[in-house]
Amino acid sequence: MKPARPILIIGGGLAGTALAWRLHERGAPFLLVDRDAPVTASKIAAGLVTPITGMRLTLSWRYSAFHAEALRFYRDKEALLGGVFFYETPVVRLLRSEKEVHRWQERRAQPEIASFIHATREPLVNDTVFANPHGGFEQRPAGWLDTAAWLQASRDFFTRQGAWLTGEVAADALQVNAGSASWDGREYESAVFCTGWEAARHPWFDWAPFKSARGTILTLRADLGGERRVISSGCWVVPRADGSARAGPTYEIPFTAPHTPAREAVAGLEAKLRAMVRADFQVIEEQTAVRPIVHGHEALLGLHPGRPRVAILNGLGSKGVLRSPWLARHLVEHLLDGAPLEPAVDLTAQ
Ligand SMILES: Cc1cc2nc3c(=O)[nH]c(=O)nc-3n(C[C@H](O)[C@H](O)[C@H](O)COP(=O)(O)OP(=O)(O)OC[C@H]3O[C@@H](n4cnc5c(N)ncnc54)[C@H](O)[C@@H]3O)c2cc1C
Repeated sequence: MKPARPILIIGGGLAGTALAWRLHERGAPFLLVDRDAPVTASKIAAGLVTPITGMRLTLSWRYSAFHAEALRFYRDKEALLGGVFFYETPVVRLLRSEKEVHRWQERRAQPEIASFIHATREPLVNDTVFANPHGGFEQRPAGWLDTAAWLQASRDFFTRQGAWLTGEVAADALQVNAGSASWDGREYESAVFCTGWEAARHPWFDWAPFKSARGTILTLRADLGGERRVISSGCWVVPRADGSARAGPTYEIPFTAPHTPAREAVAGLEAKLRAMVRADFQVIEEQTAVRPIVHGHEALLGLHPGRPRVAILNGLGSKGVLRSPWLARHLVEHLLDGAPLEPAVDLTAQ
């Protein structure tokens, strides 16, 4: 079903932008309103897409299906927009201790993990550039999205279509009744909150179990010996074509100021980096924002239980690049076709 009136998307990060594209694919009218803050989680994210993650070396939820859908989605939009935003590259994981080596030996015997490990080169890394006392492995398919370029190109495209507006949707400026939502003198079929961690501050969603985490990412100037793969070992380094690299992240819960990290958190990140990177590097930029995380949910989607003209697409955590294409399609099928939501992401399945 195509709605008669446009859908209002509030927020143009990875969530709102993916939703805009999914509505565009369906020919459904929408207006996306984003305040264009200079630093947001989506704008500063490293954009990594990695199958085996975390201290426990676990496989990311539904990785194969989400990766295939995300790759198709970004390549399709690249063809339309005339640019490259997603870079396919292996992610090298360097093990940090004998305990991790032991865990890895158990994990790699599991077929669902083994399929992401490919013949690794010898030596795995240039050990004058990266410390590698315990060995490691190379995982694929993986890669990273240049999120800033992706968001900007999408915004330019939708601005030309008259479907993107720079502005603020203040909490009290959105009127919602049984049949529609209205904002700034115009009626909408519904309003979808894609406002990231700030949704937790909105009275309509403050009951959801948000447990968002502040994170800092550094930009480095470093000679990494021509390394182009992503290297991770308690933190990661993403080499860029211009000779710089992104490195991170910190993970801070709780937090107060969203863009001001605790100095000890950043010092801890720098210490991890110095343990991993033997080459000289200088930190040339530091950026901090908040990842939206919802406790007990892989993400948060759906219509507000008491306000059926209001919906949410949130809780992307550290997997926004991988999951936003599927999540946005899933929500659109729910809104336009009445398809049921999966419990793992359903707002009402608390
Ligand atoms: C340091 C760091 C590193 C990360 N690295 C990765 C990574 O490697 N891979 C990965 O997949 N993810 C990563 N993430 C997570 C990723 O950034 C998030 O999953 C994703 O950005 C969340 O997108 P979002 O659109 O939900 O939220 P946001 O990016 O917060 O976007 C919300 C948008 O809504 C706007 N907005 C809010 N309220 C209003 C309003 N009332 N009116 C108008 N506009 C409004 C905001 O200004 C913003 O533009 C990282 C995050 C951080 C902080």
